[in-house]
Amino acid sequence: MKSADIRQAFLTFFEEQGHTIVPTSSLVPGNDPTLLFTNAGMVPFKDVFLGRDPRPYVRATSAQRCVRAGGKHNDLDNVGYTARHHTFFEMLGNFSFGDYFKRDAIRFAWTFLTERLGLPAEKLWVTVHVSDDEAEKIWKEEIGVDPARFSKLDEDNFWQMGDTGPCGPSSEIFFDHGPEVWGGPPGSPEEDGDRYIEIWNLVFMQFDRDAGGTLNPLPKPSIDTGMGLERVAAVLQGVHSNYQIDLFQNLLAAAAKATGHADTATPSLRVIADHIRSCAFLIVDGVLPSNEGRGYVLRRIIRRAIRHGHKLGASEPFFHKLVAALDAEMGDAYPELRQASEQIARVLLKEEEQFARTLDHGMGLLEAALADLQGDELPGATVFKLYDTYGFPFDLTADVCRERGVTLDEAGFERELEAQRQRARAASQFGADYAAAIELDGETTFTGYERLEDDARVT
Ligand code: ATP
Ligand code: MG
Ligand code: MG
Ligand code: MG
Repeated sequence: MKSADIRQAFLTFFEEQGHTIVPTSSLVPGNDPTLLFTNAGMVPFKDVFLGRDPRPYVRATSAQRCVRAGGKHNDLDNVGYTARHHTFFEMLGNFSFGDYFKRDAIRFAWTFLTERLGLPAEKLWVTVHVSDDEAEKIWKEEIGVDPARFSKLDEDNFWQMGDTGPCGPSSEIFFDHGPEVWGGPPGSPEEDGDRYIEIWNLVFMQFDRDAGGTLNPLPKPSIDTGMGLERVAAVLQGVHSNYQIDLFQNLLAAAAKATGHADTATPSLRVIADHIRSCAFLIVDGVLPSNEGRGYVLRRIIRRAIRHGHKLGASEPFFHKLVAALDAEMGDAYPELRQASEQIARVLLKEEEQFARTLDHGMGLLEAALADLQGDELPGATVFKLYDTYGFPFDLTADVCRERGVTLDEAGFERELEAQRQRARAASQFGADYAAAIELDGETTFTGYERLEDDARVT
């Protein structure tokens, strides 16, 4: 089954179960200024769960575009290293707003996976929260899941919207990709491996946590679920990595062509093929590269992709060329992408040309610093110079260092940043406007963005 067919099969299945199909929302959350990006299918429904946004339906289903490249869920560092993480992905979800609860949510999920998609039950592993005897009973007695493939876990199976408010236990479904792949079942010491891959998370919104920490039962409990389209596509297409699915094959081929590097298994090509999706869709949703907030996250992702192309030997701008391949893959499902594709390519090309001016010099400086390194930590002053003079975002330098097994002096870097801010403040005695602009730049690059991170509490 192709990715597009899986998306459609999911929406159709839940429509048959009385759910209204709700179109995907923007990556820039309209209802929550503190959240960096839409990072889960439930984000556009947050106010519906809270009873503040009445809708003409109590059951909904969607295929929501998501970005996890900052904030509470930041998977940027995983991309290229795990088989299952992207910066941009689609989350398939079904939602109940005070309508059905655990029993139906579990039954829908199991029926969809085993009957509609035909997955063998013996490849699926289920977890519930340690406290959730009710869900355990449903899984074991009503669904008949094998106790050998069932476990009760703690933190991974509890969800909360914030420090107070709706929260509840969750239940997750994993797919076992088989003993050839390294990794252990959920809850085991090897669970970080990629053998057992989490495909679906069912959240049972059951309590309202008050300021004193007490969990009060919600009068009308709700359901929020999320399944990664790319992960389930990998399962159905009989491949282990998300990067082997239909959609990524073509993006990887385009990345190979644009960089002149033929081996599509190279991690850098995976990074580039991943990053074009988040960058293009962020631009579709009105984010432009800048030095602050969301725009700085976009700039960081673009520059990271450019650096990986540079590593593969691309000497000309290449990243913007992938927009056409992405449009071919996703333009049917996302007409807004098709419509914006020329503009996206222009924005990316401009950013490529701009960064090309400093990338070579910065990489030269970084290579020299790495060659001269005593120990295995890159000094904060070097990280700062790369940032300040050559436009290397912190995580870009970290990405290079990770490839070499070197860590970064992050505290030292923060001190240099702070010192720069102090200098700007001192200078403000002589020219308030100019200094304020510098301060804003420095601050929003980190402090401002951290603030968004701290408040980004959704799923
Ligand atoms: P993981 O533990 O693998 O990082 P998660 O627990 O962070 O996943 P959830 O927040 O539960 O993921 O999101 C619901 C579903 O969305 C997951 O079960 C998975 O299928 C998918 N998903 C989450 N993060 C990503 C990602 N970075 N790339 C692709 N799919 C993802
Ligand atoms: Mg995660
Ligand atoms: Mg998880
Ligand atoms: Mg999860």
